[in-house]
Amino acid sequence: MINVLSVDVEEYFHPSEIQPFVDPEQWERLESRIEPQVLDILQLFEEKQTKATFFILGWVAERHPQIVRAIAAAGHEIACHSYSHRLVYSLTPQEFRADTERAVAAISDACGARPVAYRAPSYSITRKSLWALEVLVECGFTHDSSIYPIAHDRYGIPGFERHRHTIQTPSGPIQEFPVATVRFGNGRVAPIGGGGYLRLLPGRYTCAGLRRVNHDEQQPACIYFHPWEIDPSQPRLARTLLARARTYTGLGGMRSKLIRLLDEFQFSTLTSVQPGARTLTASI
Ligand SMILES: [Zn+2]
Repeated sequence: MINVLSVDVEEYFHPSEIQPFVDPEQWERLESRIEPQVLDILQLFEEKQTKATFFILGWVAERHPQIVRAIAAAGHEIACHSYSHRLVYSLTPQEFRADTERAVAAISDACGARPVAYRAPSYSITRKSLWALEVLVECGFTHDSSIYPIAHDRYGIPGFERHRHTIQTPSGPIQEFPVATVRFGNGRVAPIGGGGYLRLLPGRYTCAGLRRVNHDEQQPACIYFHPWEIDPSQPRLARTLLARARTYTGLGGMRSKLIRLLDEFQFSTLTSVQPGARTLTASI
């Protein structure tokens, strides 16, 4: 079973958890750490002979086009993580379209390839912003990985289909590949695929969850992380206890956890991984 490995390429000052403490007008003046972080990841992936999908923030592509080119030159998939890391459900459809088109232009200008896979900042395609999938189809996207089928204070659609499936929008179909979750016997669904959950939970828990998805459900799983999650010496910008815990706990152990996952499981890019035995179609 081949799973999906993905990286959300953004600076340590971009996460939604950090945004209350850093005005976007400050972004230009903050120290950039993205290039060495991405080069470190590219080297690790080369050592482990794995390919991945890199969802790149347009703001980063515009300022560091050489990073986009390095990712593409290493044979990875170039994908889109919006332009300015604003939550989709806080935008109008017109604002979302403008942000997406700006990101596509920045990424395409950097590497000469147009992204066809999209991931929303903080999984912000929720029940109230499902209209965004239709906009993505109209912008030329064939794949999306923006829906987390869990309950969380900022994102998620509890009860949503957990595996790769086709969603029919009024403008055409799009392949949705939710981030990995595990379902227990009592029906409870828990996140395992990324962000804080991948960083905070013990590695053996994540591995057991992925085995469950691959073997018991016969489905590929999608995991993700951010370049700043393997950089323990980044500046600490979060100021509340909750934001600090969610953002900085587990940074020191993240790299070895990733290595364990890369050693135990097979991964590839989002658009190359095929759906499992059971494929579904939904409509919005
Ligand atoms: Zn992000």
